[in-house]
Amino acid sequence: MARKMLQWEVRKHMAGVNLAVDETQDISHLYCEAVTNGGADHKKRLNIRRTPDVYLLRCNHCGAFGSLHLSVKARVQARQNATATGTRTAKNVKLPHDTTYEFSEFSPSARVWCLRYGLFESEIKQHRFGYSPKLRRVVLPVYRDGKLCSYQLRSLSDEDTPKYLGAALKDEKWQWLKGSGTSVLVLTEDVQSAIRCHRHTDALALLSTGISDSVLVKIVEAEYDRYIVFLDSDNASVKKQERELVNRISSLVGAEKVVYIRATDPKRMSDKELKEIIL
Ligand SMILES: [Zn+2]
Repeated sequence: MARKMLQWEVRKHMAGVNLAVDETQDISHLYCEAVTNGGADHKKRLNIRRTPDVYLLRCNHCGAFGSLHLSVKARVQARQNATATGTRTAKNVKLPHDTTYEFSEFSPSARVWCLRYGLFESEIKQHRFGYSPKLRRVVLPVYRDGKLCSYQLRSLSDEDTPKYLGAALKDEKWQWLKGSGTSVLVLTEDVQSAIRCHRHTDALALLSTGISDSVLVKIVEAEYDRYIVFLDSDNASVKKQERELVNRISSLVGAEKVVYIRATDPKRMSDKELKEIIL
């Protein structure tokens, strides 16, 4: 009969384990009864799998099993991450090892998510959208000069929280789409909106609602004639952050160069509507 792990034993094995939904990890079972003379199994035969609410543990050697509910604290944290940035700052960032860029290998729901808001398959390819079958998330990387600076992992179902996971080098989360040849910069919240605006002009996806000093300096030094703040003003707190963003840019380039659009989410507009607003 396989034995049920005691709660302290489960917790001891779970220290330092942090998985996304459906991700698994194999570690050594510290108190494995199938090891000769007792003690730790050093072949990483204890499998840990994360479901939306519970971590499941099972030793493939002795059969011991256990589970750990995500604590209320962890769930609150996940929700905060989902609404805030969901991104941790790291010394170096690495994409999930099973990331595929072959659009035909994306799951149907991943393909639907990518094509929402009128993106073309060519744009998805150009901006290197990927898909991790293991995590069941769309991978949205940010490269600068060929170097991976940050990425977001977007969940494809509401049950899979947080909505965004990811990692970024310090102050390197943003994505700047240049080269349009105009002298207008649109600041958007997400990458899809930036790609849609980039059909007409340069665009910067903040990938949050705020802007860091270092990014602010960069866009001011680029000396655009006009800066358009065009976020997804869907609630009062975002509107407040938009206002702050407008004020911060205005204080450096002059209010006459800054346009604040209080409309809908840019990615939900037609190309014609966007063009009229931008140019
Ligand atoms: Zn065991």
